[in-house]
Amino acid sequence: MTLKKYDVVVIGAGPAGMTAALYASRANLSVMLLDRGIYGGQMNNTAEIENYPGFKSILGPDLSQEMYDSSVQFGADFAYGPVKKVTDHGDYKLIETAADDYEAKAIIVATGSSYRQLQIPGEEEYRGKGVSNCAVCDGAFFKNKEVVVIGGGDSAVEEGEYLTRLVDKVTIIHRRDQLRAQQILQERAFANDKIEFVWDSNVQEIVGDGNKVTSVKGINKKTKESFEINASGVFIYVGIEPMSDPFGGLDITDEKGWFLTDEKMATKIPGIFAAGDVRKKDLRQVVTATNDGGIAGQSAYHYITELEAKTAVANS
Ligand code: FAD
Ligand code: NAP
Repeated sequence: MTLKKYDVVVIGAGPAGMTAALYASRANLSVMLLDRGIYGGQMNNTAEIENYPGFKSILGPDLSQEMYDSSVQFGADFAYGPVKKVTDHGDYKLIETAADDYEAKAIIVATGSSYRQLQIPGEEEYRGKGVSNCAVCDGAFFKNKEVVVIGGGDSAVEEGEYLTRLVDKVTIIHRRDQLRAQQILQERAFANDKIEFVWDSNVQEIVGDGNKVTSVKGINKKTKESFEINASGVFIYVGIEPMSDPFGGLDITDEKGWFLTDEKMATKIPGIFAAGDVRKKDLRQVVTATNDGGIAGQSAYHYITELEAKTAVANS
């Protein structure tokens, strides 16, 4: 393990991190873009993206590749590096990963979010055996079968619609009688013959035969009636949680772990910026992630310029 030094280390190579790396490297800073996996973030789990300007419709993995090619064109490095811990040492920050360690004048946290779990019986037992959070990755396993989608937000409704291209029937189970998803996604889902909705209901158990999922059991909250729906696959989209564990000691998130920043994407620790879904904010989209990333990259540049000016004065 070696210690590598950069002006800026960007943690997370989703749309926010890739854009941050683009802006910071174009400002002539040395930049390392780290990810615990492949670049692209949640875009890799999205079939079609039709609300990112410049593309009427583009496959998520294709937009990932386009963004990555842009982000490294001005010299930013990209490396595998699941970040374990970050510590603040004033004028420099130490980033410890499962591979190398890094020292940077500024860091940009763009670690995004992970899927919230339901924590019901069968969920963990049948993960990978029918339980999934990724229709694009796993949908093809259920060709001509019946699946259940849990949730009522953009992910549940959009991914449920995507699944109808592969499976015979999609039952979307939502805990209320109104969807949270964008209007256009709702209209498409309501018009789709392969989608059935089960309203006001909680799923209580995912049932299987020991090897694979066979059904889900739930209860209607209003009528108190129990139900069981046959399903080979269960796609859980009940919201997201921030990926902020490695930054726990820094006290720059709210109580749930979302990063708190000002409009320059600066946290309360000088030199630590955050961008994208990991921030506390209202609209979590590719376009808002890239917006945050651009601002964070530019803010890191201004921060480092001022830091270097102060250091030069102190040394003169
Ligand atoms: P992410 O895309 O989540 O990327 C974060 C990156 O950080 C990941 O690559 C992750 O591996 C990495 N990371 C996390 N922790 C660490 C660590 N400790 N060390 C190193 N790397 C780490 N938005 C749209 O605009 N249009 C859509 O059609 C659309 N469809 C969606 C469909 C689904 C199913 C979901 C879940 C979201 C969708 N979104 C869509 C939302 C959009 O994908 C997100 O808002 C966007 O990807 C957020 O970008 P980000 O860079 O902040 O985070
Ligand atoms: P979300 O918007 O938070 O929606 C989560 C859904 O799950 C809500 O309907 C919620 O119900 C339900 N839910 C939460 N906890 C539950 C529980 N314990 N049991 C049962 N249901 C529960 O999350 P998301 O849909 O994953 O979207 C995440 C972000 O990605 C959002 O910002 C979204 O806009 C974005 N996204 C965008 C697109 C797009 O632009 N095309 C596509 C996908 C995702 P309530 O409604 O009752 O709260």
